Amino acid sequence: MGLVHIAFLSTSFADIPKAAPSLPQVFDAVSLKRYVYPLANPIACPKVTIDTRDFPSAKPWAEAAKSVVENWFTPLTQLLATDGYDPITRVKSGSAFRVPKGITLIFKPTLEVPAYCVGSTITINGAWISAHPDDLGMVVHELTHVIQQYPNSPTTPGWLVEGIADYTRWWRYEPELHAGAGRTKINPAKSKYTDAYRTTAVWLAWAGRKYNYALVPCLDKAMRDARDPMPLFAKLTGKNADDLWQEFVTEVK
Ligand SMILES: [Zn+2]
Repeated sequence: MGLVHIAFLSTSFADIPKAAPSLPQVFDAVSLKRYVYPLANPIACPKVTIDTRDFPSAKPWAEAAKSVVENWFTPLTQLLATDGYDPITRVKSGSAFRVPKGITLIFKPTLEVPAYCVGSTITINGAWISAHPDDLGMVVHELTHVIQQYPNSPTTPGWLVEGIADYTRWWRYEPELHAGAGRTKINPAKSKYTDAYRTTAVWLAWAGRKYNYALVPCLDKAMRDARDPMPLFAKLTGKNADDLWQEFVTEVK
């Protein structure tokens, strides 16, 4: 038995060719790192409660939205720097996400906006979801705000907060939209990365893919620590935000 085993092993190893010295060295860990999304440690979803007392017919939609929250809370905590570790150095510093005791979805007959988030409460417009029953993705946008919870800081740009919430929604939760007619279009003459929402999101997604997938988690980490996120564009892409936008516009024209 032992002899057979040894013979098998020696034959196998003899068949493996020696490493060819002429192979290009593209597989080093440092250059590969930018293609690996730096996921934070997962956080369990707290209790989710729905309140449809003011708009009872929303009950089935509310149940579906609750399921989206329960299933997407943990992935969203991993996509952002919620664990307090620097996405690149993996050194713990500054602030981590403080998980709320629960998340509440409240449905109102109508609101000025499709939905809004205050703390861990998401309030949703019943008239909007009646007209747009397919818009469960907006729950992912609002849930991202529940997980962002950045401290108030003059260096935190509102457009970037909204851009990240649309980035997780359109590029991580429902990227299928970008395979069809719903793809985000920008107007090269008028659009700017500070437009927030989908325009910022499509630019962040492009920059992350082209330069470094750590971009969005690093921006998130900076805002959690009340640091200015803007220098991170140059640090991770070699270009400031204005130059990076010009490059994006040129490429997508
Ligand atoms: Zn928002």
